[in-house]
Amino acid sequence: MGFKEKGLLVVLSGPSGVGKGTVCKALRKRGTRLNYSISATTRKPREGEIDGVHYFFKTRDQFQQMIEQDKLLEWAEYVGNCYGTPVDYVRETIESGKDVILEIEVQGALQVKQRFPEALFIFLAPPNLTELKNRIVGRGTETAELIESRMTVAKSEMELMQNYNYVVENDQVEKACDRIEAIVLAEHCRVDRLIEKYINSEGIDGK
Ligand code: 5GP
Repeated sequence: MGFKEKGLLVVLSGPSGVGKGTVCKALRKRGTRLNYSISATTRKPREGEIDGVHYFFKTRDQFQQMIEQDKLLEWAEYVGNCYGTPVDYVRETIESGKDVILEIEVQGALQVKQRFPEALFIFLAPPNLTELKNRIVGRGTETAELIESRMTVAKSEMELMQNYNYVVENDQVEKACDRIEAIVLAEHCRVDRLIEKYINSEGIDGK
């Protein structure tokens, strides 16, 4: 049987407000060869968001059912709403040899690590926490109180970096994308992923 390389599961995570969504969107725009998992959420759609495109919008009951039926690779509650990754899409895409990227918050990333330790974990870091605060304030959608609570969360989230394989600073979106592309490319060249292709197949010792 010929060697078939599995796709990578890339987990892009990091503190809230660091720009995960923006970086993911920029990667998409570049046409980077990644497949984007669509999450389920109990959050109400924002203006312009489409069911099945940006998220699968679910009621609490529907979301609970997905958990009970083991349809989520991970899930987490974040600022009062539930978010989760449908497992089937991830499994099927990886099995077919294509890479998948998850853009998720840190609690969910830790669960992926438990269930899928061979995934590639990339921590997106803000240049510094002042910058992060400015970004959240700049969005203009949050109250002062909420901003403070998000900052407290962000500080403890930074400590979770130790669970990741790579850290990418989001100083500039395009630079962050360059780094992520480089990491994914390097990961595809790892010996432990490819050794079977060269040894024990028709390659070197094949008769
Ligand atoms: P938003 O409500 O702004 O779209 O997303 C809020 C947070 O939820 C972001 O940090 C985003 O990365 C995270 N998120 C989106 N989808 C998922 C998911 O499937 N699982 C987890 N754990 N977090 C998610």
